Amino acid sequence: MSPRLRHLTTLEHLPRETIERLLDRAEALRDACAHGTRKLDVLAGRTVLNLFFEPSTRTRTSFELAARRLGADVVNFDIGFSSTSKGEELFDTLHTLEAMHLDAIIVRHKQSGTPDELVRHAMSGVSVINAGDGNRAHPTQGLLDALTIRQHRPDFENLTVVICGDIRHSRVARSDVHALATLGVKEVRLCGPEALLPATDEFAACPRYDDFDAAIRGADAVIMLRLQKERMASTELPDEAAYFSRYGLDQRRLKLAAKTCLVMHPGPINRGIEIAGEVADGAQSRILEQVGNGVFVRMAVLNEVLAR
Ligand code: ASP
Repeated sequence: MSPRLRHLTTLEHLPRETIERLLDRAEALRDACAHGTRKLDVLAGRTVLNLFFEPSTRTRTSFELAARRLGADVVNFDIGFSSTSKGEELFDTLHTLEAMHLDAIIVRHKQSGTPDELVRHAMSGVSVINAGDGNRAHPTQGLLDALTIRQHRPDFENLTVVICGDIRHSRVARSDVHALATLGVKEVRLCGPEALLPATDEFAACPRYDDFDAAIRGADAVIMLRLQKERMASTELPDEAAYFSRYGLDQRRLKLAAKTCLVMHPGPINRGIEIAGEVADGAQSRILEQVGNGVFVRMAVLNEVLAR
């Protein structure tokens, strides 16, 4: 059996067995909740800190719900956008908070690599979970996306998944590719304007498209991404109307995909920019399922790193 995780900062290089264990556990927790279990006490007496240096709606709330449903205490520490120099702020904060005897720190930061720095500097016995660092990784999003696909299409070896939009700045895309490739998805296509695709040597095994009509043809799932303006220079910003006409997911384009194609988006969605409102709200949309699965995946991860 692959060893239990102490921290979760990225899905890259995680063994398939570990990813499957987390997905299986998330599913078991979802079944338990469906049968009426609202609260477990496996993490009673443990304290989890939400340390968010960037805004978040879904991730922060679902980590908090996940921790509480497992019986842990939760402390929220919201810093929001800050201009203070990163290193000073981070370690001052860390040392102050460590004095409160924490068991896990859930961290989101605009600087890629911050969760690993915390792993190096945190007191021993404190687990670090990455809730999104820069454009590098968002491992629990990668897991919940894989879980959402698996629920509908467990036959990963037959699947074509398209990731479309601002992949260059997307930590979600990176964690999705790591999860889906490890789980044996047949093909993950990357689609977007050249300027928003990753460097050519990153994900060399994934076919790249600048034509969304060609990319989505026959696809079994399509994951749409937001333009992450906060990570772009003002000169890089595309014209939104032109962008939608080339890379927006509307009904016409969705018809080019497989009939049962799953429509996914990590949120927040921007209607009329990367996705039409009627597609986001349509019968094939799995966007709210993704949100629901987020709680169970985060329960599974907290259980993995913290259960005694
Ligand atoms: N919520 C996701 C993230 O934090 C996606 C996004 O912001 O566009 O990366």
